[in-house]
Amino acid sequence: VIDTHTHSHHSPDGKAPMAAMVAAAKAAGLTGIAFTEHAEWYPGDEAYGFLDLPAYFAELERVRDRHGDTLSILAGVELGNPHDFPNAVSAMLDRWPFDLVIGSVHWLDDRAGWEPPIFLERGIEATYQRYFEVLLRMVEDADFDVLGHLDLVRRDSWDLFQQVLDLDPYQGMIDSVLQRLIESERGLEVNTSALRKGLTSPVPGLAILRRYRQLGGEIVVLGSDGHQPAHVAHGFDAAQDLIRAAGFTRVARFSRRQVVDWISL
Ligand SMILES: [Zn+2]
Ligand SMILES: [Zn+2]
Repeated sequence: VIDTHTHSHHSPDGKAPMAAMVAAAKAAGLTGIAFTEHAEWYPGDEAYGFLDLPAYFAELERVRDRHGDTLSILAGVELGNPHDFPNAVSAMLDRWPFDLVIGSVHWLDDRAGWEPPIFLERGIEATYQRYFEVLLRMVEDADFDVLGHLDLVRRDSWDLFQQVLDLDPYQGMIDSVLQRLIESERGLEVNTSALRKGLTSPVPGLAILRRYRQLGGEIVVLGSDGHQPAHVAHGFDAAQDLIRAAGFTRVARFSRRQVVDWISL
């Protein structure tokens, strides 16, 4: 399979050159890797203004020249709250030849969602509620190909407080998110970073994957959200079992922002 969500040193929280991530992908037996660097527009974000796309594409071309015959190396980006910055997003997506664009909610009402204050001020339940409201707005308004870490709030509340809430109260909003993705032929990412952080299932887990399938969803990709070589393909065996358990027999392969092929699981 392809690891469709990784960060190299072109993201502020990634440290590795692309070549090191590529070597890890090959060692893990992957057929491809996507470099989906952070693009953020809230000035308080550490990624604000960080991504240098000319340098990113220059390095990507170098690793493609060396390894492109043995590994698919996809140009990607992870847009943070793209619905809040539509003009900047469309300028970026019009200009650069991305293979895969991930849409992610990282900010809630001018606060970074993974930081304690928002949970402490509002309480965990209200933070979950707001997260899913913002998520639905993003899926309705923004241009992207694959939804990143659908229930990220679960990973963050675990990370901060070793607590995760049952998602039943938010199921209506989650269903709307899934329906919008399906109608617009966009995909759902299974993000294994939660396993690194001690959760027992990826984000999203089996229940949401099953629901996506039940509603008619087909486009699934698998990403580690790795920020260093050791993270590449982390937890993929378990995640593939989970994707199969939800009724999928294949994952999607993207190129130039389209599903061009399927990879059997
Ligand atoms: Zn993210
Ligand atoms: Zn990421």
